[in-house]
Amino acid sequence: MPGIDFALVRRQVSLTQVLELVGFTATTRRGPQLRGPCPVHGSAPRSRSFAAHLQKHCWHCFGCGAGGNALDLYLAVTKLPVYDGALELCARLGVDAPRRHHSAGDSPARIAPPTCRRAARTTAGPRSPP
Ligand SMILES: [Zn+2]
Repeated sequence: MPGIDFALVRRQVSLTQVLELVGFTATTRRGPQLRGPCPVHGSAPRSRSFAAHLQKHCWHCFGCGAGGNALDLYLAVTKLPVYDGALELCARLGVDAPRRHHSAGDSPARIAPPTCRRAARTTAGPRSPP
């Protein structure tokens, strides 16, 4: 099995592209932060449980607790294993899947998960205490 540079996939694929791909429609937008129904657990159309931050390139759902970056979002929605999901995502976006020549040490492990949960909380207006 050829290795894929997952870190490079994460860098090459933008969150905006994946949001489009999974059919996310924002119900509210404040600067780089989008809120809307969660494409992972399929919340109600007007729901705002899902938060995505386009500048931090991360997302988090307050409903199902899922979160991560662009690739994580695609994997969560498609339920594909990381290897298949990364290949399919690259294919659908028309980018070459970055190959790793050294397959040893190839790891699909989460790499530095972004702190979108906190970012979303601190900038979420309506639910802040007075
Ligand atoms: Zn969710």
